[in-house]
Amino acid sequence: MINQNKEIYECVIVGGGSAGLSAALLLGRSRRVLVCDKGNPRNAPAHESHSFFTRDGISPHELLSIGRDQLKPYKTLNFTRSESRKLTHPTINLKLCLRMTR
Ligand SMILES: Cc1cc2nc3c(=O)[nH]c(=O)nc-3n(C[C@H](O)[C@H](O)[C@H](O)COP(=O)(O)OP(=O)(O)OC[C@H]3O[C@@H](n4cnc5c(N)ncnc54)[C@H](O)[C@@H]3O)c2cc1C
Repeated sequence: MINQNKEIYECVIVGGGSAGLSAALLLGRSRRVLVCDKGNPRNAPAHESHSFFTRDGISPHELLSIGRDQLKPYKTLNFTRSESRKLTHPTINLKLCLRMTR
């Protein structure tokens, strides 16, 4: 996938919550990855997040903030505050429409 700045991505992850950031950390070590996240994780109302190894009791906000920070050393990874609005894939000509949110 090529964006307007002519950057090429091999993988686009829609959603940068715990699942998306975990996938990004794994894939970003060997692939060019774009994460688009509109920033509304389901557990946002909770004060504490539990049952995640080494991070029991951490705030959901802080957990994701650490997750995003740990993507930064990987130059193959790009994180955007955006919403995926439309995904079309007539055969291999895949198009993803993003709306920047912040
Ligand atoms: C009140 C509450 C408390 C919880 N407490 C815990 C807990 O203590 N421990 C635990 O393990 N689990 C807990 N959960 C479950 C928790 O929601 C999940 O563990 C965790 O948030 C799941 O992460 P996720 O990445 O799958 O989804 P989410 O956290 O929901 O992240 C999805 C992300 O994708 C983004 N997104 C969605 N659609 C688009 C789109 N079209 N374009 C761009 N971005 C998009 C959203 O804005 C969001 O940021 C709790 C849930 C709730 C509701």
